[in-house]
Amino acid sequence: MNADLKKSICDVLEYFKAMGFECMPHSSELFTPSAVLPAAADKTVYRSNVAHGPSDKDSALHSLRDEIGDCKRCALSQQRTNIVFGEGSPEARIMFIGEAPGREEDIQARPFVGDAGKLLTKLIEKMGEKTGFKRKDVYIANIVKCRPPMNRDPHDDEMRTCSPFLVRQIEIIAPAVIVSLGRISAFSLSGRTGPLTSFSITRERGKFFDYRVGNRSIPVMPTFHPAYLLRNPKDKWLTWEDALAVLKRLEEEK
Ligand code: URA
Repeated sequence: MNADLKKSICDVLEYFKAMGFECMPHSSELFTPSAVLPAAADKTVYRSNVAHGPSDKDSALHSLRDEIGDCKRCALSQQRTNIVFGEGSPEARIMFIGEAPGREEDIQARPFVGDAGKLLTKLIEKMGEKTGFKRKDVYIANIVKCRPPMNRDPHDDEMRTCSPFLVRQIEIIAPAVIVSLGRISAFSLSGRTGPLTSFSITRERGKFFDYRVGNRSIPVMPTFHPAYLLRNPKDKWLTWEDALAVLKRLEEEK
């Protein structure tokens, strides 16, 4: 076995360990070229948009949070504990967008801090290992900012009411790439109409689509929700392929 191949296999196995894989992938998944960590990835792939100091983006995000206030614009306000605005670097080049806060997020007022959040953090850290970013350097938000009772899917009117605030967050942060986590996030950002039940994340994941905001177009990579991956660990492979495509896209957008 040559040294390059050995190194690629070691890189991939190291990733399995970090992501807590419980099973091996099918050989076709392991040895597609994209399943091997990109050789070109280096610490220059991820640089923040602005060098230092409190930015205009930071103050714009604070103003937006103030504008949301103690929101009562939809029914989700009735049972939530906290509004989960979103967190991370205002200068982030990658933005991860989930569906809605869960129990832990509602308590802590922070996105993705429960079990699914721990898995997302592992993914982000693994992506950042080659390119020099950590969870605090990306931005994480949700389609709706309040926990739906019993973690039910957010209703259409709740997503519509909350979406102008997410749109403004995206506009302010202006990330180079968005990663949408799960069916609801991808469906909502894609602007598709029709019943949500007609949208399959298994079919749509892995293919970039454009999200238009202002006069910009931002590539969105739809992938599985980390909560789904906790129940279906073998699909972590596909998520890793999607993550590699995101890293490649970031490199191209440099
Ligand atoms: N699931 C989500 O979609 N978002 C969170 O913040 C937590 C869990």
